[in-house]
Amino acid sequence: MKPIATFQDLLIKCNTENKKIYEIAQQEEAKFAECEISEVRKNIEAVLSAMQDSIKEGLNSSELSMSKMVGADCEKLKNYYTKQNGIFSPQLQNVIKYALATAEQNARMGKIAACPTAGACGIVPAAILGISNAKNASNETIINALLTAGIIGKIVAAKAALAGAVGGCQNECGVAAGMAAGAVVEILGGTNEQILNAAALAIKNILGLACDPIAGLVEVPCVKRNPFLAVHSITAAEMALADIQSIVPIDEVIDALKQIGALMSPALKESAQAGLATTQTGLKITESLNKIWNS
Ligand code: SF4
Repeated sequence: MKPIATFQDLLIKCNTENKKIYEIAQQEEAKFAECEISEVRKNIEAVLSAMQDSIKEGLNSSELSMSKMVGADCEKLKNYYTKQNGIFSPQLQNVIKYALATAEQNARMGKIAACPTAGACGIVPAAILGISNAKNASNETIINALLTAGIIGKIVAAKAALAGAVGGCQNECGVAAGMAAGAVVEILGGTNEQILNAAALAIKNILGLACDPIAGLVEVPCVKRNPFLAVHSITAAEMALADIQSIVPIDEVIDALKQIGALMSPALKESAQAGLATTQTGLKITESLNKIWNS
């Protein structure tokens, strides 16, 4: 059988072998790494543990990043939720907190699991752990969700890329939202079709997102973008579970992502030459950081 290069290949393989997406993912990974499936799952467990640690550490820190642009916001959010009820359900509040905690840890140079990248590291763990905690999901279910997210990211990487420098933030935070959406559908017992539809809905609705970080640092807008996209992924999962279809199938959505990335100006692809990076405020911050770092 030919290797899995597209989401359609993945679905055909699932249907032929009567398996869930995560089962094909672990089977393929074991084949690639020449190991047993149990070893693949053990490695994923280590990734899960790194995700849990970064959330825990992030929730307990308000240390600023070296640039001092980010690092104290998760603490503010926690305090707000302690004093007020908030608008979102406690489950969604956790999703936002976990995403912010992880992204702030990354900006502090703490240990995180890049999924698919460091800049987008908060989205997948926040969605998976926020929802699985709310549903009392087992470790096995969480690992199945991570395998699902992993194969979605792997196919996107093969078809397009996973780097803001190549296609803008749609390729980092956008793809992470697609991975997270598929993973959440897996946790909630959705079908393979619903998982891929969730990924399509999430990515489709974030196409064109620029990568324009201030001073070229993975901080602004990156850190706050993680909680936004984590919630976005839950919206996609809910819609997919309601059998709302993406009219454009996932493979074609990724083709569009690739095309949009290629058409995007290099100034909007991690070069800090446009967008938020060159706003009055962005330039002022860059100038003052350059003064500090060059002194
Ligand atoms: S804005 Fe750029 S650097 Fe920041 S998370 Fe998105 S792709 Fe990564």
